[in-house]
Amino acid sequence: MTPEESREFTARLENAALTLLKSVIFRKPDDLARRFGLPIPVVRYWWRNTDQKTKEVNQSTLSPREVKTIRKASQTLEGWEKAKRYRPECGANLTNGKRCKRSVAIRPPEGWDRGALADRCRMHGGLARRIRKKKVAAED
Ligand SMILES: [Zn+2]
Repeated sequence: MTPEESREFTARLENAALTLLKSVIFRKPDDLARRFGLPIPVVRYWWRNTDQKTKEVNQSTLSPREVKTIRKASQTLEGWEKAKRYRPECGANLTNGKRCKRSVAIRPPEGWDRGALADRCRMHGGLARRIRKKKVAAED
């Protein structure tokens, strides 16, 4: 997963979470976080950054359109467990000429604005606060 893909994926999770919270399918960010295995501080943060206005839908009289929106948002959020479990390999070059096979790191909650998944494992700077620069040819 490239950094862009990680950010896009995380933005999709955020949108889906806010959709379900706004329509009060989940009453509290914590409930939603627990249901989909997301870090609670992340979902709280997403929610705090909205106007927190809700428009509760009547779950027994949903229009087909609402059903579809809710189902899609739930599916997006269910994708997190899978993304978490089947993270891409780190791929950093090792001194033995092989590539690192460890899974890329999951960022702590405060790093999720850069994407939930880092592009390296924790041994290879996946959790570094600074964006890892691509190696450039040395100039003098
Ligand atoms: Zn690695």
